[in-house]
Order: sequence, then C-alpha cells, then structure tokens
Amino acid sequence: MADEVLPAHAGLVGVLTDVRRYLGWHRDVAGDELAAAEPGALGMQGPGPEVVVTVEGASEPPRVVAYAEVPEGGPEPTSATGRRQPFSGNRSRPERVDSPPVSPPSSAPSRASAAADRPPLDEVRRALGDCRRCKLCSGRKNIVFGVGNPGARLVFVGEGPGADEDTQGIPFVGAAGQLLTKMIQAMGLARDDVYICNVVKCRPPGNRNPEPDEITACQPFLEGQLKAIGPEVIVALGKFAAQTLLRTDTPITRLRGQWREYVGVPLMPTFHPAYLLRNPAEKKAAWTDLQAVMGKLQLPPRR
Ligand code: URA
Repeated sequence: MADEVLPAHAGLVGVLTDVRRYLGWHRDVAGDELAAAEPGALGMQGPGPEVVVTVEGASEPPRVVAYAEVPEGGPEPTSATGRRQPFSGNRSRPERVDSPPVSPPSSAPSRASAAADRPPLDEVRRALGDCRRCKLCSGRKNIVFGVGNPGARLVFVGEGPGADEDTQGIPFVGAAGQLLTKMIQAMGLARDDVYICNVVKCRPPGNRNPEPDEITACQPFLEGQLKAIGPEVIVALGKFAAQTLLRTDTPITRLRGQWREYVGVPLMPTFHPAYLLRNPAEKKAAWTDLQAVMGKLQLPPRR
C-alpha cells in the first residue's frame, strides 16, 4: 500500500520544492513578495528549453602559449591557484550542509583528462600583465581579471568593470554585483563555487559601453580564461558577453533563454544584472534561464 502512496508523495515533494525555490528567488533576488500565483509562474520551474544552437564560425580559442608579446609588468595577485572542486566541495556553509552531493556530470572522466591539457589560469593572468593593449588602460585603477574557483563548473561572464570593481579589482562587487551574488545564491551556490569575469578587464570611462577595439584587445584573454577553467556551462550576462562569445549581432532579447554553444560548451545568454535592476519585471525570465542552467548542471534543489 505504501508503494501505491509513495509515487504521489514524491511528486508532491517535487512540486513543493519547486514552489519553495521560486518563492526563495522572489525573496532573495526580486526582493518582493510574490503577488499572486500566475498561471505561468510554476511553469518557470524545470530545466527550461533545450534548444542547442551551435555558433557558426566559432573557433577554438587561441592557446595561451600564443601570447608571446607580453608587456612588462607584474600581474596582480589573483586567487587563481587551485584546481577544480565540486560545488559541494571544501566549504561548510550552514545553508548547504544538508544538500545532497552534486551528481557527477556524465562527462566527468573526459573533463578530468581534458584538464591536463589546459593552461593554468595564472598563466593567462601573467600573459595579460600590466596590459596596455587598448585605450582603457589609461583610465583604470586596477585590472579586473576575474574571481572565483579556477576549476569552476560554471562561469559567469559580464560586460566590464564599473567604478566599484575598478577600485577593488574584483568583478561584480557594486549594485549589479550584489544582485548577481543573490542570483548565484538562489541557485544554491556561492560566489566561491563559480568563476566570474568580464569581456573587458578595465573600466570603460563613465561606465560607457566597451568599444569594438577594446573588446577585440581583451578577447584572447577571456577566451584564455574559459579555456583554462574548462567550465561545463557558461552564463553570458547581457548583450556584450553573449554577442562577443557567440560572435553574433543578435539582440540579447532574442538570445536569452536559448541554449547556445561556445567552443562546445553549453552557453546560456541571460539578462545582465544591471538591466534587471532597471527592469525588475525581467527577473522572472532571468530566473527561468538560471533554472535551465541548474538543470544542465544537475544541481540539487535548495532546502
Ligand atoms: N557590470 C559588469 O558587467 N561587470 C562588472 O564587473 C560589474 C558590473
């Protein structure tokens, strides 16, 4: 008899878990109360659309050893020292202690062997040096290389540093960064679990958009970072990250929510946190995208 009851019970637990995650998103990220259970609201749950579009013309990023002409100047200190750890790895965070371990990805053995072929992230940072390859160098306080787990399964790529990031030398620490942190936490992760970087590593003056020559100058280093880390999934935050990595002019409004590939790595374009701060109604769409990412990484539901 218990056998007859259990499947229904399991289904109910699944639904309740989804509802809790959705409410948690609204509490932690949207910062609002869930006004009403709209018909589509629970339809946000689950892994989302699995449309894979391979980018034409995308090529293997250049190997880091190709950075022969490195300007003089010592690299900044970076946390890029360790190697890959699972999300449930070496930290003991109270909210995650009870989480089941992350299922090993199906491609784990091949990733492990591929890791041996990757350049260390430190090498990419050393190659960047005290960069003077574009005009952004003249106004910057700090190069904002990237932060997080150098062996991360998940990498977030933003646009470029703002004033706070320029001052601290760390990506996504200002208002948009605080929202990104909440988004990561809503996924049941911490910033230390993932890797966060930008298309351009120096602040565009006045927070203007990065210009094509600046993006082009920085692109080998972004590609080098992604090659060094070898993530299972990349999240492109906003137009510049998505268009740069996918080599397309398609607007982010059309790109977001659709799985793409960057050199064989699944890439999810979504809205930039700064855009979400200005357009909070779009947070729901961004959460859909992040849930698709959670599904792809087989992340456990939050408790
Ligand atoms: N916006 C970005 O795209 N990157 C940052 O690091 C901060 C804000």
